[in-house]
This record gives sequence, structure tokens and C-alpha cells, in this order.
Amino acid sequence: MKAIKLFLPFLILLVFISCKKDQNAEPETQNSKLENSESTEKHFAIVIHGGAGTIKKENMTAEQEKAYTEKLQEAINTGYAILENGGSSLEAVQKTINIMEDSPLFNAGKGAVFNSNGKNELDASIMDGKSLNSGAVAGVQQIKNPINAARIVMDSTRHVMLSGKGAEDFAKQYGITFVDDRYFFTEKRMQQLQKAQGKNKVQLDHANIENDELVDDHKYGTVGAVAIDKNGNIAAATSTGGMTNKKYGRIGDSPIIGAGTYANNKTCGVSATGTGEYFIRTVAAHETSSLMLYKNLSLKASLDNVVQQIGDLGGDGGMVALDKDANIAWSFNTEGMYRGYKKSNGENVLKFYEE
Ligand code: ASP
Repeated sequence: MKAIKLFLPFLILLVFISCKKDQNAEPETQNSKLENSESTEKHFAIVIHGGAGTIKKENMTAEQEKAYTEKLQEAINTGYAILENGGSSLEAVQKTINIMEDSPLFNAGKGAVFNSNGKNELDASIMDGKSLNSGAVAGVQQIKNPINAARIVMDSTRHVMLSGKGAEDFAKQYGITFVDDRYFFTEKRMQQLQKAQGKNKVQLDHANIENDELVDDHKYGTVGAVAIDKNGNIAAATSTGGMTNKKYGRIGDSPIIGAGTYANNKTCGVSATGTGEYFIRTVAAHETSSLMLYKNLSLKASLDNVVQQIGDLGGDGGMVALDKDANIAWSFNTEGMYRGYKKSNGENVLKFYEE
């Protein structure tokens, strides 16, 4: 009797603990699943591109190589530091793109190409792979960093894309930096326009495109970034000046969710560069995700499949991507693509030319 009295409190404690355990073993709700996945620290990574095209070693000077190497590495490091400090993939891709938008080396922000009227019309988009929330701006002319405006469209409206004056009027309310036309003027881009317009009078590369349509000089300096953060959330973003000598009002793939940009935590994040019309027609970035989801293809096989589809239609360019396990891949059918990545396992790669 005395022994029972002695052990009774322990027995009660044991029963209590096992009940508690059972409660915890209840089926996971959506929220508990979310918390579990968010509390497990995963690999993080960022992959970027600075455009695809006729990028050949023999056409590059040592200074040019150095300039691209330094700027691309700075962009990668910016995003990587955000991820390393526990920041979101959305923040990482946005800030990474800002570095490239502020450089004249790329066809985005400062280095944007001219349209047929000698004006700059910029497009950008960003997507959150966790919620599938997205934001985009198209045809903006005075926003210094279009990706920042795209982010605000995503965060502060129920819309996905705003264009032209409406996008600019909206962005003004959010402290976005505005610049006048002169900011985007670079001698190099003006020469490209003049060359393109000169060619235009003669003939275009594309036999199936009317003379007054796109001039495809096989140089695409669009910038893109895709990241996965410590919580396993994927984000993708793309920013561009479009294509040299494009008709005014033309909108490419870069601001179109599913074409130039896509992110989905279930599959991958993708950013594209190339002749935008073909990426729109193949819904390239989303097609990559779908091939993974429905056909169980690997990230690389999915990208190759889509780039093949684009090539078969007569388009060129490429895509960079990463999947939910932080695997990185890219694919392109041009001679080169400025590209690179950094992963939490210490890998840091930068490449310009064909593999
Ligand atoms: N994809 C962009 C567009 O068509 C161009 C580029 O990648 O440079 O607007």
C-alpha cells in the first residue's frame, strides 16, 4: 500500500505525458505543416543571368570580361548575403536585380535599349513561389529600377501587372525613384539602334518576320535572378529594356508571369532571356515548371525541353533556374549567356560562354 502511494504521483505524470504526446500526434493541419517546413533550415542558393546572345570569348576584351565578372559577382554576393542573413528570396532577387539595373552593362534599367522611336520602355516582373503572388510593370519610361515597382504592384495591389503611365502614376505614391530620359541614354545603345534601323531598311535576320518587325541582333542583355531561401521559399525576377528597335508599346516576355518569370515552391523558379515573343508563345518559364510537375522531368531536362521548343520555332535565348532542393540549372541555344550562381554549400560559379 505504502509502495502504491509512493509511485502514484509518477504514474499520474506518465499518463499525462503520454496524453500530451497523443495530442501532438494529431493529423497535421495546413498551418502546422507550414511551421514545420519553415523551421527546418535548408540549403539556400541564388542563380542569375545577365542576358544571352553572341557572347564569344574571341569578341571579348580582357577589360570587358573583368567588368562583367565583377558586376555579376557583386550582384550574386548581394543576394547571397541577404539569404545568408535569413532574408527572403524575394528580397534577394530584387536587390540582386537592382545591382544589374544600375549598371550600363546590361539591358535593364540604366543600360536599357532603345525602341524604334529612340525611347526606352522597360519591363519587369517578380514572383513569390510560396504564395504565387506576382507583380509586374510594362512599358515604363522613367522608373530607375522597374523591379522595385513590380514588387510594389505585388505587395500593394490586387493586380499582377500595371503598364505605362498608370504604372508610373501608381509607383509615384510609393517613393520609387524617377529619372528623366537622359538617364537611360548610353552611346552604345544608340549605336545599336542606329545599326538596327540601318539593317531594317535592308533585311532582317528572321525570314518569317516582316521587315518592319523585330531586329534581332542576337544580343539580349536582360537580367534575371532566382533564389531559394533558408525557409525553402523560391522567388524569381526579371528586368529588361526589351529589344532594340522594338515597336513602341511592344511588351516582351520579361514582365509576363509564366513566360519570362515563374516561381513555385512545388517545382522551381525560372528567369528567361531571349527573343521574348517565343518565350511568350511557349509560356517558357511555366512550361519548365509543368514538365517537372506533370512529367517528372528533372530541372535540367525541363529547361532543355523548353529551349528546344523555342529553337524549333526559330527563337533564341536561354533560362536560369533552381528547384526546391536548391539544384541549379540553365539552358540556352545562343553562343553564350552571362550566368552564375552561389550556393550555401560553398559553390560559386560564373560563366559566359558555351559549356
Ligand atoms: N526577353 C527580352 C524581351 O524580349 C529581351 C532580352 O532577353 O534581352 O523583351
